[in-house]
Amino acid sequence: MGKMDKDEVVRILEEIAELLELKGENSFKVRAYRNAARSLLNMEKDLTDVVKKGTLIDYPGIGESLATKIATLVLKGRLPYYEKIKRSTPSGLQELLQVQGLGPKKVQSLNQKLRIRSIEELRKAANQGKIAKLKGFGAKTEKNILDALDRRKTNQKRHLWWNAIEIANSVLSSLKKLKDVKKAEIAGSVRRKLETVGDLDFLVGSNNPKPIMEWFTTQPFVAKVLAHGETKSIIISADGMQMDLRIVPVNQFAFALIYFTGSKEHNIKIREKAVKLGWSMNEYGLEIIKRGSKNPFAKSKRPSTEEEIYRLFNLSYIPPELRENMGELEAASKRSLPHLIEERDIRGSFHNHTSASDGRNTMKEMIEGAQKLGWEYIGISDHSKSDYQANGLNEERITNQIDEIRKLNASKIFRPYIFAGLECNILSNGSLDFSDSILQKLDYVIISVHSSLQQDEKTLTKRLIRAIEHPSTTMVGHVTGRVLLQRDPYAVNLSKVIDACIANHKIIEINGNPMRMDMDWRYWHAASQKGLLCCINADAHAVDQLAFVRSGVNVARKGWLEKKNVINTLPLIKIKKFISQMHP
Ligand SMILES: [Zn+2]
Ligand SMILES: [Zn+2]
Repeated sequence: MGKMDKDEVVRILEEIAELLELKGENSFKVRAYRNAARSLLNMEKDLTDVVKKGTLIDYPGIGESLATKIATLVLKGRLPYYEKIKRSTPSGLQELLQVQGLGPKKVQSLNQKLRIRSIEELRKAANQGKIAKLKGFGAKTEKNILDALDRRKTNQKRHLWWNAIEIANSVLSSLKKLKDVKKAEIAGSVRRKLETVGDLDFLVGSNNPKPIMEWFTTQPFVAKVLAHGETKSIIISADGMQMDLRIVPVNQFAFALIYFTGSKEHNIKIREKAVKLGWSMNEYGLEIIKRGSKNPFAKSKRPSTEEEIYRLFNLSYIPPELRENMGELEAASKRSLPHLIEERDIRGSFHNHTSASDGRNTMKEMIEGAQKLGWEYIGISDHSKSDYQANGLNEERITNQIDEIRKLNASKIFRPYIFAGLECNILSNGSLDFSDSILQKLDYVIISVHSSLQQDEKTLTKRLIRAIEHPSTTMVGHVTGRVLLQRDPYAVNLSKVIDACIANHKIIEINGNPMRMDMDWRYWHAASQKGLLCCINADAHAVDQLAFVRSGVNVARKGWLEKKNVINTLPLIKIKKFISQMHP
């Protein structure tokens, strides 16, 4: 293999074109790089092979000089020419190009006339009304720039899975309606249900790609077209999300789906398996490269599903969530992959807030919400008294809430059974926020860290373990406190915390809030093997957030969890018994 793959080479060629545009180079030269990039995108053969055979110049739009540059990138992994023009362009200018509505000409003129070379300088000039006065801009453009800057702020480079899936599904369903689309799927990290995703990868199987690409690059959600090829296009949406669309012939779709779902590490392992069998596999299909190797197609027809492709390797089907090279290929060959938990296995959530603390809906509204979801039970767990910001409940208010719950259960107004719980603050020394006499009245207690987050690892770990050892504790809430794309986890030794939970028969939750997804999926497989039990919770602060259990289930699936590892898959009678034994 070469040192740089095709996608990366294409990206660099596009970037060179952009840099040349910013320099005001003639459009002929700029176009040469774009044409070469497009030609590579449409190339079906392996780029490294083509480079080694010296046949690059046979492709449209690639002359001697470009062929040499592409070969250098593929074989050496770098290109001095590219590095030189990149160095000589102020880095902020390229960033300015990402702002919706700013093309190279405008950026050049902002740079030359107002010396604007960064997003900050752009914002400042726009706020001062300087851009409106500039020739070729005007007040409307200035306002558009300010709007675009605001949107940028809320949309960083990575996005929460929860936000991405909504946009992805709406584009996918429109794609599926197009007459030339035979097969369509979301691939990449969205399909693997990673907690955050960089871009959206759409894959389409069609034997007439042109009108589909035309459609994709001209939709109202498109803010900028980064590349428009026959088989691949890249756009930036108005919300700052990058979307890639690849179109492959229908008979290559399954191969491409495996390839573009990834992860990279999973794909490398599959390719290694292929090589051992004398085959070569890529996004276009599978070829026999060593004479005398077993012909995978001898008995059956060409595979048209992922299942059939995995079967060629004598592997059982690997769900996308598991394709992270974390032992799934070994398990698939031994037929020992887990029977992953599914959303419909969930019968209730234990971590939910009401308007008594910082929730938006009343307890009755939350219970109604659970009833609509078909849940058998719901736990109410408002904040405890030291959480002033969250309007935590004091002794009197929690006692009243417990009474209210007991009465509601007796009245049978609602179908779901209601458990009386609490999200109890772990104080800075590891003691709990209420006395034992209050804690014992509850059905269960979630313990969480909400204060003194800056403690060092040793202190914080000791503090958590002390709280885990408290006899009233049922489960640990959002164990690392991370807020995705915003706040790092606090310093805590997770393996010690996991061991303490197992030793004390305590549970760790999967907090399904899309910004938390905590504890992280990467820990669950090993921890559950050691005997740790899980509870998938919504941490809902409003009725519509009860749906957050869905992203909690994603974490569980990525962490290899089965129904038996998750307590809130138990039917009511069993969970009642289970919880009461834990909370004597
Ligand atoms: Zn909390
Ligand atoms: Zn909470």
